Amino acid sequence: MEQTQIIIAGAGPVGTIAAYYLATKGINVVICEAGPNCAQDLRASTFHPPTLEMLDELGIADELIKRGLKAPEYHFRERQTEEVIEFDLSELSDMTKFPYRVQCEQHVLASMLAEKLEAHPNATVLFNHRVTSFTQNDDGVEVALETPYEMVHLKGKYLIAADGGNSIIRKWLNVEFEGFTYPEKFLTLSTKLELKHYIDDLAYVNYVSDPEEWLVLLRVPSVWRILVPASEDQSDEFLLSEEYKDDVFKRLTGETGVTTQHRTIYRVHQRVATKFNHGRVCLVGDSAHLNNPLGGFGMNSGIHDAWNLCEKLLTCLAQGHDPELLDLFDRQRRTVTLNFIQAQTKQNKALLEHGMSEGQKQRLIEMRQFKEDPVKRREFLLRQSMFSSLEDARSIK
Ligand SMILES: Cc1cc2nc3c(=O)[nH]c(=O)nc-3n(C[C@H](O)[C@H](O)[C@H](O)COP(=O)(O)OP(=O)(O)OC[C@H]3O[C@@H](n4cnc5c(N)ncnc54)[C@H](O)[C@@H]3O)c2cc1C
Repeated sequence: MEQTQIIIAGAGPVGTIAAYYLATKGINVVICEAGPNCAQDLRASTFHPPTLEMLDELGIADELIKRGLKAPEYHFRERQTEEVIEFDLSELSDMTKFPYRVQCEQHVLASMLAEKLEAHPNATVLFNHRVTSFTQNDDGVEVALETPYEMVHLKGKYLIAADGGNSIIRKWLNVEFEGFTYPEKFLTLSTKLELKHYIDDLAYVNYVSDPEEWLVLLRVPSVWRILVPASEDQSDEFLLSEEYKDDVFKRLTGETGVTTQHRTIYRVHQRVATKFNHGRVCLVGDSAHLNNPLGGFGMNSGIHDAWNLCEKLLTCLAQGHDPELLDLFDRQRRTVTLNFIQAQTKQNKALLEHGMSEGQKQRLIEMRQFKEDPVKRREFLLRQSMFSSLEDARSIK
């Protein structure tokens, strides 16, 4: 049976970062991906400044930045009044080399890292290898994998579950995934139509509030992405139809017959696993937590989990298994997930839906205050760019 130090399930952005981090620190890793390659679907597209700092430590930030778009500014826009509240991350240039978001599809990062891992002497990348089960004892883990042809087994010291929201590893561990699923569906459309021709002064990242149909408009190098809520009462077939697509674009640009590159319907969850570490098996990224995409925290917080965990695994590998250190990983990352990422994404969604309640109107007033007051604005920028949550996690002992 093949033996390694760390086995990672899932070659999404979180698993590939964990693998690359460990391989560059001299650790032998095997990353197992169920699919034939890194998934190419359009999901996360925002890399926040502290994530870019981590990528920089691994020597890969410049390569990603070259393949993406720098977005120092982002807008909260009122659809009905056309008010624009602008925020500019350049204000943080005194504390970071990366005072901007990078807009780039997550699969660019995952594929870039998988390629580097395939060439790395400490790493093995196994595509078409699905983790089906595992066992663990005081010395390590044994993982069973299914390939199109056979079952294979791997032994390692630790297993990192970066196998996404439907994590089989989380299910095997029988861990509760507490939280809720939003009743409405979310529809994403992407188009090469230049939205700047229809909406004045559009930034690369725009959160557009409206009690009837809020929107997120995001630019990535290849397309504009449009995210809109959709009624749970409408069938997926109708929401993906030409007719519905024309309605969305008519309301947004006045145009019909716009060509789209992708149309996807998905359900959004706010859920957190009740514990991230289980002996020698740890959950990171979407396998540990899910949140709505408003703010662009999902993938970024998953990368922050991977970073935190890998730092601690290096110590465990060098000095012996230390359950307390892995408990600390759980405390640090689960606490910020609950207190910040879950709370902030719910608040970001409520802001876009504003108009329905006094609380929502109050949040809009607060937003204007953030814009006007330099101290509050800096706090807001640090929070939304995820510097504060990383700082909070580090302060948890
Ligand atoms: C529409 C949308 C927009 C989003 N926008 C943003 C954004 O702007 N910013 C942001 O930070 N986040 C965003 N997110 C969230 C983000 O996409 C996820 O948080 C991110 O993909 C999590 O990465 P991951 O590596 O943990 O999981 P995934 O990307 O889901 O990767 C998991 C991998 O594990 C593999 N796998 C699954 N089961 C097994 C198994 N049994 N064995 C082996 N491999 C397995 C899968 O094939 C997959 O490749 C968005 C999500 C959606 C749906």
